[in-house]
Amino acid sequence: MDRNFVAKRVETMNESETLAMARKSRELKAQGKDIISLSLGEPDFDTPDFIKEAGISAIQDNHSHYTPVQGYADLLDAIALKLKRDQGLDYSPKQIIASNGAKQSIANLCLAVLNPGDEVLVPAPYWVSYREIIRLAGGIAVELKAGHEQDFKVSAAQLEQAIGPKTKMLIFSSPCNPTGAMMCSSELLEWTAVLSKHPSILVVSDEIYEHIAFDQPHLSIATFPGMFHRTVIVNGMSKGFAMTGWRLGYLAGPVDVVDACLKIQGQLTSAPSSIAQKAAIAGLLANPASIQYMVDAFKIRRDKMAAAVKDIPGFVLTVPPGAFYLFPDISECLTWNWAGKSVKDAQDFCSLMLEEAGVAMVPGDAFGAPGCVRLSYAADWSILEDAVQRIKRVIEHHYALG
Ligand code: PMP
Ligand code: GLU
Repeated sequence: MDRNFVAKRVETMNESETLAMARKSRELKAQGKDIISLSLGEPDFDTPDFIKEAGISAIQDNHSHYTPVQGYADLLDAIALKLKRDQGLDYSPKQIIASNGAKQSIANLCLAVLNPGDEVLVPAPYWVSYREIIRLAGGIAVELKAGHEQDFKVSAAQLEQAIGPKTKMLIFSSPCNPTGAMMCSSELLEWTAVLSKHPSILVVSDEIYEHIAFDQPHLSIATFPGMFHRTVIVNGMSKGFAMTGWRLGYLAGPVDVVDACLKIQGQLTSAPSSIAQKAAIAGLLANPASIQYMVDAFKIRRDKMAAAVKDIPGFVLTVPPGAFYLFPDISECLTWNWAGKSVKDAQDFCSLMLEEAGVAMVPGDAFGAPGCVRLSYAADWSILEDAVQRIKRVIEHHYALG
């Protein structure tokens, strides 16, 4: 081919593995295959009625024009109120910007603060898109590995060791996608002690799974001593409010960083959807008790699913305190030969499970944890149970063959 329209930055970019697996599952289903997809991280619940009604009113009230780039003033106020109510933090509206999902908030942020060659510390396992967004912005993702033997949590000593002269930023999620791990107070204090020696590092705390916490309270690192002025909180409506399709996320942080994000957003997308903004206000101002029914359902599924997955031969599971994923280590299964096919990595394992069990999961490689797979349990228990039985049948069959 004597032409290449595609830029190098895209040629070297990996497709989002979570979305790729979801696409593959949809394609196979469209071909009539019986596929259970545990690949995509989104609540199976529909958006609560009171939020939908706010969206409908927004349409009827003709909120159909461009909004301020930052988002409507009443949305920024609602976000500030939420951050005061839930985190006890005082943000002014000029410290907040709403975007088309937390994903765009993170992209704006990376483009706004990273210079070519800047290093970003990324505790692994991490959410798939951090690495690619950092690279797109010219930064270098420095992975800090934490396996299930340390509950998938990077220690303060690891953090300290990884910091160098080029370190510009740290980004992590708690509860974590893909592991569901959550940082507790003493761990965040230890991190804070290290970070206090390096005041020029910007800390990005992705709190999108804030509400989906079962065994311990969600804590924001921004509330720890000395952290408020150097932390950017990223959050959004997708997970806790079952609003993935509305595309509404936000960030809150230092004014200069927010202003830089505003410049980028003003040139790239103008603002998030006016309708989604008005709907989000209803969700943010509502008593968090109004979404508790989803959290309760996730907890029941977490418990049942964890027990079922622990029972699968070759799966080693750390039971996660939050989010809606299980992230078993399947290293033991990666030495197998399957009807002549060698299963050498999680990618092979997931392809095999898709073919043989009709169950889609995401290989851990995409999250910086090659020996693991991610299963989303944001589905009805009957579906989850069926999925586990299918996986188990294939694996037990393999063991039976010796
Ligand atoms: N952060 C994490 C950790 C996520 O899992 C996701 C998944 N959607 C996002 C950010 C982005 O969410 P959204 O763009 O839907 O708000
Ligand atoms: N964050 C979700 C996931 O991890 C949705 C897909 C995506 O945006 O990556 O599956």
